[in-house]
Amino acid sequence: MEKILEVTDLHVTFATYGGTVQAVRGVDFHLNKGETLAIVGESGCGKSVTVNAIMRLIPNPPGRITNGKILFKGQDLTKLKEKKMRSIRGVDISMIFQDPMTALNPTLTIGNQLMEGLKQHHDVTDKEAKRRALEMLDLVGIPNPEERLKQYPHQFSGGMRQRIVIAIALICEPELLIADEPTTALDVTIQAQILELFERIQEVTGVSIILITHDLGVVAKIADRVAVMYAGKIIETGMKREIFYRPQHPYTKGLLESVPRLDTKGKLQPIEGTPPDLFSPPTGCPFTARCPFAMEVCDKVYPESTAMSDSHTVNCWLQDERAKKVLATMATN
Ligand code: SF4
Ligand code: MG
Repeated sequence: MEKILEVTDLHVTFATYGGTVQAVRGVDFHLNKGETLAIVGESGCGKSVTVNAIMRLIPNPPGRITNGKILFKGQDLTKLKEKKMRSIRGVDISMIFQDPMTALNPTLTIGNQLMEGLKQHHDVTDKEAKRRALEMLDLVGIPNPEERLKQYPHQFSGGMRQRIVIAIALICEPELLIADEPTTALDVTIQAQILELFERIQEVTGVSIILITHDLGVVAKIADRVAVMYAGKIIETGMKREIFYRPQHPYTKGLLESVPRLDTKGKLQPIEGTPPDLFSPPTGCPFTARCPFAMEVCDKVYPESTAMSDSHTVNCWLQDERAKKVLATMATN
């Protein structure tokens, strides 16, 4: 399978008055062409920072990519000049955010906003731009596109506004679409419609998608593969069915158990404890303090990735045959 994106050993820090926050601490993952990868985890685990780094939208200062490669179609985005990055952002890679209101300009008609995005990057006539804008509104399921083009954002419902945001993100035909919690601000029925829209868009355009979410229901609905993040690291990756039916990391298991189910009458089982402080993250497994299975080796050495299948990896000493050896070496030192 062709990889469209490959992130290797990504580190991102933020300088604050209280010290340096290590927000992303050695993240590796890839995205295959045409697939949807969901990055899941609690808020503050580094998932938004990871995708903002891909877009090169980490404000510097205080933020900084301190290490790593972000290969997009073989080209390392961390090495590009801002000018070159501007020609990629919104054209080859588009991003949509949680709140559709802040993404739209309240003083411009949506037709103008759609056409502006296209004209900024492509040499097109007004007629051609309008044709594309209409085509996009149709793709995202907005009825009467001719009339709707002349309207302003406040004349649309929240769900419709998010459809417009998606249309703007797609008008330059990006190959990669990054969506950060795209349905979180919407009510449940609208959420489902927007998720269906993502599926349809992928079918029609073949766009590869990275979806950031803390909602496993969203993952179940549209992801092909899943990466679970915890305390600035990816701790498990796999095909959706591997993560849902054969989770290996105690944190992933905890996340799945915290999803309300019919048989538990919707009672949430939150994982006890809190994630570690990322000002001085632990050297060993960051889940040690919350993990019911923690062993001696866990808080001392970080578990490397163990392959459970061709597509499933986990970073946990429970699955790592090297655990005993590491402990033995530590004892003799
Ligand atoms: Fe728990 Fe140890 Fe596995 Fe971390 S490495 S999740 S502490 S068993
Ligand atoms: Mg976030």
